[in-house]
Amino acid sequence: MTMVKAAVIYGPKDIRFEKRNIPDPAPDEVQIEVAFNGICGSDIHEYLEGMDLATMPHPLTHMQAPLIPGHEFSGTISKIGKQVSKLRIGDKVAVEPMIACGKCPECLSGHYNWCEHAIGSDQSAGFLGFSANGGLAEKCNVKSTFAHLLPTDFPLDLGALVEPVSVAAQAVMASRVSPGDDVLIQGAGPIGLFTALIAQISGAHHVIINDMSEERLDLANELGVQYPIRADSQKSLAHAISTITENQGVDVAFDCAGVQPTLTGAIQALKNGGKVTVIALFQHPPVVDVRALLKKGGSLLTSYGYANIFDRVIKIIDTYRSLFKRVITKKIELNELVSEGIESLEKDKKQAKILVRLHS
Ligand SMILES: [Zn+2]
Ligand SMILES: [Zn+2]
Repeated sequence: MTMVKAAVIYGPKDIRFEKRNIPDPAPDEVQIEVAFNGICGSDIHEYLEGMDLATMPHPLTHMQAPLIPGHEFSGTISKIGKQVSKLRIGDKVAVEPMIACGKCPECLSGHYNWCEHAIGSDQSAGFLGFSANGGLAEKCNVKSTFAHLLPTDFPLDLGALVEPVSVAAQAVMASRVSPGDDVLIQGAGPIGLFTALIAQISGAHHVIINDMSEERLDLANELGVQYPIRADSQKSLAHAISTITENQGVDVAFDCAGVQPTLTGAIQALKNGGKVTVIALFQHPPVVDVRALLKKGGSLLTSYGYANIFDRVIKIIDTYRSLFKRVITKKIELNELVSEGIESLEKDKKQAKILVRLHS
């Protein structure tokens, strides 16, 4: 048992900073001294509305709020369970924050992101930070198979980006973005920015990112995204796409915003045979113009979470360290989580990825 400082979420708008006891790791777990934990959109919804937070015992973890939030984190192994052989104390790792049974048909087929037992009957999410204790504490126990070894000189702040970059990388790979493709990204939040970077790294030709916020477009520009555009109507989007792609349209359009106009615009931007890939979790069910899609021979894909991709993403970030580093706009202390983290992301569009520093 170790006593640590932690953020604890009790329910909507109720995060407290407390001392918590973290038990020794189970035989198949490792204990991590958390270095950095990133804040994401789902943490904001968890804080504001209690979204995805377990309010009754979760079917796999048997845990419920109050819980330690945080699912994007990196750290150093400080204790190992008895059955763990591949990791050692002192190893640096990025944590894959999934909760999965490992036994159902989906898990056994490798799609553990669709585990049949990971979502509670109260819609609690199958992620650390929602249905089990997460990374916003000095220590966290995780399944050893979900602790991914980082290169010894890999900066731990970049380790906290592996989770959100995996969301983007899974979507880009599922869409088979190929060298020479033209790509549109709707929405320049962190996932949109990461999607643009992975598309560029994958050899895309024109990468266009569309957002209403000038601040976010400035950041996209700093990251080297070729065409940051602010299209405030379907007409202006169509005009920009046809100018940039010389009337052809894009091969792949990603919806990283998740509102009706961004999906409609994505379909409209496609060339014949193109694909729309939805990454965003829509709050309201959108209308899909199937006729417009059909006339182009287009496809509509979705990408949810990730599976079996962390080790590849670690290598991608390792190759482009300075590029990914620029997405981190602020580092804060644990007790600033709400004021300088969650509320800052809500108000200040200049912020992309804010990391909470636990140990560094
Ligand atoms: Zn996240
Ligand atoms: Zn399962």
